[in-house]
Amino acid sequence: MSEFEVLLSEEQVQARVRELGEAISRDLAGEQVLVIGILKGAFIFMADLVRAMSVPLTVDFMSLSSYGSSTESSGEVRIVKDLEQAVDGKHVLVVEDIIDTGLTLKYLSEILRRRNPRSVRICALLDKPSRRKTEMAADYVGFVIPDHFVVGYGLDFDQRYRNFRDVRILKPSGDGGQEE
Ligand code: 5GP
Repeated sequence: MSEFEVLLSEEQVQARVRELGEAISRDLAGEQVLVIGILKGAFIFMADLVRAMSVPLTVDFMSLSSYGSSTESSGEVRIVKDLEQAVDGKHVLVVEDIIDTGLTLKYLSEILRRRNPRSVRICALLDKPSRRKTEMAADYVGFVIPDHFVVGYGLDFDQRYRNFRDVRILKPSGDGGQEE
């Protein structure tokens, strides 16, 4: 049996996402923005975030895979699915579910900057700064959280639980099984 503890309620998440959308829209007022969602974890957050933004925008997606074990990011990232839109000359907003070691986003922002965007901003729903292995700070962070493995609102464990409306801590199960 998997056990969960709610860390952030649906109401908390929704209120914060609205604030983030408003802050981003203020900072980019009058500009057109390319919003890039990092699959799969960011898909629900991004869907709510873009609806909270009032600047003209287009969306695109990237899918990355990290070399090394599934739980520990190695910092070397492979692009599994690249953007369909060009980045050069555009204001780019990267939307990520969570920053852990920071290695994925550091690598990704280097790749994007080489494509000559007008600006690159990063928005992460969650941030676990205690786990950072590189200097990486997002421009917008929904919630700073302690070092727990969380699921829900797009985040998975073994591809499951992405549909939870809240964010929950996944507690290791006593019997080693993952079934609910
Ligand atoms: P980083 O390169 O910052 O270590 O890796 C960030 C990625 O690791 C996130 O996009 C996410 O896919 C995964 N990750 C890190 N912490 C968690 C967590 O607590 N829960 C889930 N579901 N994924 C996490």
